[in-house]
Amino acid sequence: MPTALITGITGQDGAYLAKLLLDHGYAVHGLLRRSASADVIGERLRWLGVLDQVTLHDGDLIDLSSAIRIIQTVRPDEVYNLGAQSFVHASWQQPLLTGTVTGLGAATMLEAVRLERPQARFYQASSSEMFGKIQQQRQNEQTPFYPRSPYAAAKLYAHWMTVNYRESFGLHASSGILFNHESPLRGIEFVTRKITDGVARIKLGLARELKLGNLEAMRDWGHARDYVRAMWLMLQQDRPDDYVIATGRTTRIADFCAMAFGHVGLDWREFVHTDPALLRPAEVDILLGDPTKARERLGWTATTSLEEMVAEMVEADLARYRARATVVLPTEASLRAATP
Ligand code: NDP
Ligand code: GDP
Repeated sequence: MPTALITGITGQDGAYLAKLLLDHGYAVHGLLRRSASADVIGERLRWLGVLDQVTLHDGDLIDLSSAIRIIQTVRPDEVYNLGAQSFVHASWQQPLLTGTVTGLGAATMLEAVRLERPQARFYQASSSEMFGKIQQQRQNEQTPFYPRSPYAAAKLYAHWMTVNYRESFGLHASSGILFNHESPLRGIEFVTRKITDGVARIKLGLARELKLGNLEAMRDWGHARDYVRAMWLMLQQDRPDDYVIATGRTTRIADFCAMAFGHVGLDWREFVHTDPALLRPAEVDILLGDPTKARERLGWTATTSLEEMVAEMVEADLARYRARATVVLPTEASLRAATP
């Protein structure tokens, strides 16, 4: 039975990748950072019904000793480094942490693999944010990078370290330059999920407006379920390499709003307001990927349309709020009041 180790297993992609690998017969292990909220940290894995099928190991990307210990214990055939401080906006507030976790964290995992398990295949979660202020209209593996945030700069370091460990030490290390990908499990701070959550709250009468930042930015959005398949395919190739993973279609934030509100019969212009506080110090105006190499070499294409994904996300957020409305969780105050 092949064995995989995933960092970032509690995140959006980690959960979908764990499910995909389990479906392919893998033993799946994950690095889990200690949290005071341990009871909720496995929510995404639980949502996909796989929490009890994965083995979680205490560790942190900034702790080389934990990475080494886990690799010694697990002896993985494949290592997927998905762990990161992944939110661009937060990277201006926490640039050093972002550099440490998102950048040096990748070096930590590469070093642990080199020292303890050099035969393992390694995947690095690189990002289209590395293209930043785009140098070509459609970005592919040859497009020069121009990072526009501490997050993007950290990802660029991690990307080049992956290339360097491949070239210097012969590791089977691949870098997936993934364009934005979303799902019902996307973090609520990212714009797509913020919008679908807002649509659900407004539709159910729980909110009256949604505040957003730049509505003119454009992104090439795909579905996380499709994109984790590309990660796995990269590690099944004889030769490691770098691949752009994208849909080849780009959409304005405002048009995403129109789709999401339109799904429940609402006009987004009545509810969305712009808040200058949500604008960024530097913006990535447009991203549009060219996934030709992935299609030709990996046989990969995106299978979920943006319209299908928006519908799935809005329906999931509606279902979450409806479920919450029927379950009344006790609070300390309610328990005290009920105690004679
Ligand atoms: P998420 O933010 O959902 O998940 C990030 C994961 O990293 C979480 O499991 C988080 O753990 C973990 N993590 C954070 N800090 C540490 C740390 N110090 N040590 C160990 N683990 C840590 O990201 P996604 O699933 O969306 O993305 C996966 C990867 O792909 C990330 O590296 C992201 O930057 C990259 N990427 C994502 C894209 C996207 O559109 N989704 C596009 C391109 C790249 P915890 O649950 O404890 O917070
Ligand atoms: P990113 O591409 O990794 O930064 O993903 P995000 O989903 O965080 O942001 C995508 C785009 O949406 C960026 O251009 C943001 O400026 C824009 N955006 C507009 N309003 C918001 C908002 O309220 N929150 C977030 N996260 N992004 C917003």
